[in-house]
Formats: sequence, structure tokens, C-alpha cells
Amino acid sequence: MNSLTTYEDNLAYSKSLRFGTQAFIGGKFVNSLSGKTFETVSPISGKVIASVAETDKEDVDLAVAAARKAFDTGVWRNMAPARRKAIMLKWADLMEKNARELALLDVLDMGKPIKDALTIDLPGSVNCYRWYAEAIDKIYDEICPSDPGRMVLVMREPLGVVACVVPWNFPMMMTSWKVAPALITGNSIILKPAEQSPLSAIRIAELAAEAGIPEGVFNVLPGYGPTTGQALGRHPDVDCIAFTGSTEVGKLFMKYSAESNMKAVNLECGGKSPHIIMSDAPDVNAAATAAAWAVFFNQGQACNAGTRLLVEASVKDQVLEKIVSIGQSITVGDPLDPASQMGAVVDDTQMNRILGYIDDGKAAGAKIVLGGERRREESGGFYIAPTVFDGVDNGMRIAQEEIFGPVMSTISFKDTDEAIRIANDTVYGLYAAVWTKDINKAFKVVRGVRAGAVNVNTYSGGDITTPFGGFKQSGQGRDKSLHAMEKYTALKASCIVLS
Ligand code: NAP
Ligand code: MG
Repeated sequence: MNSLTTYEDNLAYSKSLRFGTQAFIGGKFVNSLSGKTFETVSPISGKVIASVAETDKEDVDLAVAAARKAFDTGVWRNMAPARRKAIMLKWADLMEKNARELALLDVLDMGKPIKDALTIDLPGSVNCYRWYAEAIDKIYDEICPSDPGRMVLVMREPLGVVACVVPWNFPMMMTSWKVAPALITGNSIILKPAEQSPLSAIRIAELAAEAGIPEGVFNVLPGYGPTTGQALGRHPDVDCIAFTGSTEVGKLFMKYSAESNMKAVNLECGGKSPHIIMSDAPDVNAAATAAAWAVFFNQGQACNAGTRLLVEASVKDQVLEKIVSIGQSITVGDPLDPASQMGAVVDDTQMNRILGYIDDGKAAGAKIVLGGERRREESGGFYIAPTVFDGVDNGMRIAQEEIFGPVMSTISFKDTDEAIRIANDTVYGLYAAVWTKDINKAFKVVRGVRAGAVNVNTYSGGDITTPFGGFKQSGQGRDKSLHAMEKYTALKASCIVLS
């Protein structure tokens, strides 16, 4: 991967970039039919980066027609698997070759530190495309153990046109988690990036064409959720929605589907994940360090952020002391500076929403032990200090609602049963972790907490081989792993009578 350089280098390089700003439909870059554009603003400085094509319903119609045509002709799904694999691998290689540019596009659009974009988002995304590409020619279909007089085949077939509607928090990575498994299974894709972060999606469309992905197979529609997003959700010729974002919008996609063609809807939505530290954690300081970064990473804008710290009363002071000392040492800085550990939050709306939650927590009687304020206001950008509340009751809004900012809510508990009860007292169920030396306690928590992942003695565990997704209102369906392919395929059975 292209290496980290200096702030000055990154600034000069970002100024030299030419941004792709059009929609990509049927293998061509085009303006929106209305000719309208919207501005993408950098949260680093509050300044406009570029004006991007603002698509709407009529552009969705065009993209769906192009995607359908590619699917019907079979140009992609009927291509020899080994050839499809080679094209996908070439696409991944091109992303790797252009890693610094792609990382910078995400940094400029949504304000994450360049170090994270270059060492986490880009390698993670490239690896995701490669991993699924490698799967193309290694998965077999089935024959049923039926009567000898007949042979029953079970085949996986692509669904058709898949619309991927993604958020801004990990633009490249969330896109890769949807697009890679959906593409390798033979579908045609329409990607709608978040309005705050369209630039890397447009650039990878250019690379898709260069890699040889046939026209119409991969399309990108920059635009707004209530227009372009909704039109995809309601389109009678879209077969599947793959969505990551808020629970509120996830529910809308279920409604769009019900009111249109019953398309498959896969949802990866919000969370309010419990991070449980027991007094017998193998290393309380290591647990506290993990707890701090489980919230402050990506400025707290991660669906699986460990925003509820559940800590056993007897070690609470030690844990909080460590977290506060880490928080005080974190450099909140310009995302282009490789030394910055936290950057800007995505936009002013999000910043004000986070500050609103901080006020709400104070008014509800929780105590701020770290941060709580805006930072770097003079930059014109949108920065928030790492923030920790103590004395939180799980019924408070700061414990129940997804803040999507660097805000931790600390809740203490007395025993394992109480920890599990509090952990489950939420509408969400995306992620959880517990720190303890006691295997029996650990497994009681793993079994007891209703979430898509419950890790032990680590917060984030697992890689591309590990399924990711939620219970309850955190969604349905799984990203990553071979299980993700289940979302983009349907089983077809064929009974052949033998004479
Ligand atoms: P969001 O509103 O749910 O947006 C996610 C995607 O859905 C975006 O592409 C968005 O387009 C689109 N969308 C928005 N409204 C839509 C509608 N009415 N119909 C169809 N599509 C629609 O999330 P957000 O605006 O990025 O952030 C809001 C909150 O969502 C956050 O504060 C956080 O709580 C949560 N969130 C969760 C995750 C996660 O990974 N679980 C990620 C991001 C955000 P536009 O960008 O054009 O609106
Ligand atoms: Mg939005």
C-alpha cells in the first residue's frame, strides 16, 4: 500500500486531485438528467470540495435498465468463473495501486484520519474484494440425498439487480462489504453512496471499467436518500436492497419493499453496543484501552462502537482513570496530518446532534469526566473532543440512542446476571464484548447477550472470514464471510427423473 507521508505532502496531493463528479450508468460517466448537482463539503474545513451530479428517480430508471440489460444478456453472470475472478482481482489491484488517492477522497469527504484510511479502510476494502474474488471458482452447488431414481440439484443463482445503499462512516469499506459478494455471485449492482461521501465511489467506477467489468454491471448514482435512495427502494425491477445506515431508514426500506415488489431487503443498521469489563479481566488496563478505542475510533462513527461501557463496580475507578488518561493524550487534529488520531465528524448537522446528546446527558444527571466540547472551531471544520460520561442510567437517552459520535456512557453493575440484563436492555443487538479470566462467566455472557457478535477479552475480533450483522433492530442478514453470499442469491432446485 502507498505509505503515509507528511501533512504538507497530503495537503499538496489533495489539492492536485481531480475529482470525478458524474454518475456512472451503463459503463459511461454522465450528468444527472435534470442537470442538477449538489455540493460535497469537507468537514475538515467546512469548505466545498466539488459539485457532484444529483441523480433522481429518472436516473434510477436508466441505471436499473442498464443493470437489467447486463443481467439478462448474461454478460457477467454467465462469464466463466475463472475469468470473472481475474477481472475482480484486477479491480482490487487497481484500488491498491490508487490506495493513497482513494484514502484521501474518503478523508476529504468525511474527515477520518489519513492514517486510519490508509492503514485500515483501504487494505480492508482491497482484501474484501480479493477474498470474494477468490471464492468465485471455489464454491460448489449440491445434489440432494434423494431416491436413486432421481437426481435433485440445488443451485445458487444471482437475484438480478442489487441496489447497495451505503453510509459515509467507512465509504470504501462499507461499499466493499456489499459490492464484492453481490458482484461475485453474478448480480448487476447499483451503488448509491451517502450524500456526504460520493467521491471514492465515483473513482472506483472508473477503475471497474479499467478492470474490465462489463458495462451495466456496476453503476453508481450519487444523490440523496429520500429521492435516489427511495426510488431504488421502490423500483419494481430492483430485486434486492443491501443497506447500511440508521435503523430509521432501514425500516423505510422494508416499507418501500412491501409497497412495491417485495424485493429482498438486507439491513445493517445501528447499535448501542455493551462493552463489559469484569473485575477479573486478565488485564484491566488493556480492557480499558480497548474500551476507549472502541468508542473513539473513527470519531465514534462506527455502527459497532462500544458506546455503553458496563463495568463491575469494584474496578470502575481504575478503568475510568485509564480511559480518561488515554482520552487526554489523543491528538484530535487535521485528518491530513498522519499524527492525528481523531479527525472531524462528518458534517455540522452530525456535530450539532452529538453536542445535543452531550447536553441531554448532563441534563439527565450523568457526569462528564472527559471532554464534552467542540474542538478546532477556528478551522471551520467539525471536531468533537473524546467524551466520557460516568453515572449513566441505562434508561437515559445517552444509553439508549445511537449518538454516532465519540461519546461513552459508563454504567456500573454488580454481577454477571445484572451485566447481561443491562446489556440486553436495548432495541439494538449488533455487537458486544466481555473481559474476564473465567471461562464460565465468559460463556454465560456469550450465550446470554443477544447480539451478532459477542467477543471475549478483545473488543473487535474477526476479519473478512467472520460474519457481521445484527439481532433485533440492528438489522438482518450478514456482511462478510461466505454467509454474505446468501443475501444475493436464491436457491433453485431441479429434480431430474432418471430412467
Ligand atoms: P442514513 O440516513 O440511514 O443513511 C444511510 C444511507 O441511506 C445513505 O446513503 C442515505 O442517503 C440513505 N437514505 C437516507 N434517507 C433515505 C430515505 N428516506 N430513503 C432511502 N434512502 C435513504 O444514515 P446517515 O444520514 O448517514 O446517518 C444518520 C444516522 O444513521 C447516524 O447518526 C447513525 O445513527 C446511523 N448510521 C449508522 C451506520 C451503521 O453503520 N450502522 C452508518 C451510518 C449512519 P443520504 O446520505 O443521501 O441521506
Ligand atoms: Mg442522511
